[in-house]
Amino acid sequence: MADHINGNSDSPVKLPTIKFTRLFINGEFVDSVSGKTFETIDPRTGGVIARVAEGDKEDVDLAVRAARQAFDDGPWPRMSGAARGRIMMKYADLIDEHKEELAALDAIDAGKLFNQGKALDIPGVANLLRYYAGAADKIHGETLKMSRELQGYTLREPIGVSGHIIPWNFPSSMFFMMSAPALAAGCTMIVKPAEQTPLSALFYADLAYKAGVPAGVLNVITGYGPTAGAAIASHMDIDKVCFTGSTEVGRKIMQAAATSNLKQVSLELGGKSPLLIFDDADVDKAADLALLGILYNKGEICVASSRVFVQEGIYDEFVKKLKEKAKDWVVGDPFDPRSRQGPQVDKQQFDKILSYIEHGKREGATLLTGGKPIGKTGYFIEPTVFTDVKEEMMIATDEIFGPVMSLMKFETIEEAIKKANNTKYGLAAGIVTKNLDVANTVSRSIRAGTIWINCYFGFDRDCSYGGYKMSGFGRHLGLEALHKFLQVKSVVTPIYNSPWL
Ligand code: NAD
Repeated sequence: MADHINGNSDSPVKLPTIKFTRLFINGEFVDSVSGKTFETIDPRTGGVIARVAEGDKEDVDLAVRAARQAFDDGPWPRMSGAARGRIMMKYADLIDEHKEELAALDAIDAGKLFNQGKALDIPGVANLLRYYAGAADKIHGETLKMSRELQGYTLREPIGVSGHIIPWNFPSSMFFMMSAPALAAGCTMIVKPAEQTPLSALFYADLAYKAGVPAGVLNVITGYGPTAGAAIASHMDIDKVCFTGSTEVGRKIMQAAATSNLKQVSLELGGKSPLLIFDDADVDKAADLALLGILYNKGEICVASSRVFVQEGIYDEFVKKLKEKAKDWVVGDPFDPRSRQGPQVDKQQFDKILSYIEHGKREGATLLTGGKPIGKTGYFIEPTVFTDVKEEMMIATDEIFGPVMSLMKFETIEEAIKKANNTKYGLAAGIVTKNLDVANTVSRSIRAGTIWINCYFGFDRDCSYGGYKMSGFGRHLGLEALHKFLQVKSVVTPIYNSPWL
């Protein structure tokens, strides 16, 4: 385990200056109506990074008014898709130019690895914008022959004003998984980043405006969920709410939409994803994959493989390998290039994870590795693997959202499928086998939105993902996500000599 958890003292990277801390409404940074602010915390040390404007209902109202006007009267939904695409391309270039600063903001705000942000997350969101920029001029309806005297066609129109409520685990990726397709569709929007990670979202608002996205199209309201978030979910003038976060809050979003204006809802929620490793797997590679599946982004990833099921023939060897490899996994400052895992996002998340670990011990599971916090400052936790886990234990049923794996054994394919499906969630699953029949059978039998065979986190812009069961509905990425922000209008007209004329 790393002995170099050092806050920012000998950080090789110049920490970013915090330029933006106010709400972004109608092309301007403004204070909140109440004048209130809240602290955003550096999880490496627990210290305050900055105070950020605390938006509430009145601020959401102002942002919705700006977005409504930009949608009803402004150029964004009316310009050609190609013109929108050109602005989005410019936006992507500006993001690339600022990738170090943006990666550093996510590192201090969310504890994300700086190098990973610089190489993957930030260039990834720029490329996501380019992907949807390319789709913006390919939004087509259909021509309908209809009956003898009528002909018709369909238009795909932007849904209107959309509200995006986003989680803290991937502040940049989540911002764009929702906003990039909405921009391409011609929507205008209000984005509420999570209160734990507001900084990069405000930076993205500024870059959007600089790229030429007109005032009022992309507004950012920083603030808390039960106030600013709830005001978005229940607003009468928002046409769609796109939510990514916990299943518990997802339920509240749906209720708020149902009791306000019946706005459309899409929910990308939690998970407890299984990774199934069969007897014919390369044990060394499978152990690497299992660790990556639970420790990537410190386990704060909705599709984390938090339940690992290993077939009995290789179970003992797998356990041995996993233990050795977990020891070499470096936890440390996200700016240190040796670190593979940074701090959990905040004290609340840190305490929640540790209390699940205590619960697991009390329930009778055995700690194979980890189980403790690291260091005296910040929110670092050891990579933790439990064996002797029973399916009904809380560590095997609940989404912990941290570096905690439940390792279990199975004998037959049928048993593996049954165990994998024994969850209220259905976000993702992984299968490790060389046997094509097994891979095909299992991938069709698991009720989850994404199945990775002999890989994990095989994300791609073109490949949508989202939930089955209580992991939600609606899809991120791919053209599916673009369609979330479009609605179909049918236009019908009589043809020549029709009795209608
Ligand atoms: P969360 O549900 O606590 O918060 C998510 C967002 O909702 C935040 O912006 C928060 O301020 C807001 N919010 C909270 N209460 C609200 C309310 N009453 N009304 C409106 N908005 C409210 O989730 P989190 O802790 O930020 O993120 C972790 C969760 O997100 C995990 O369950 C994880 O699996 C899930 N997640 C899912 C995906 C996916 O694509 N399926 C991706 C990332 C994270």
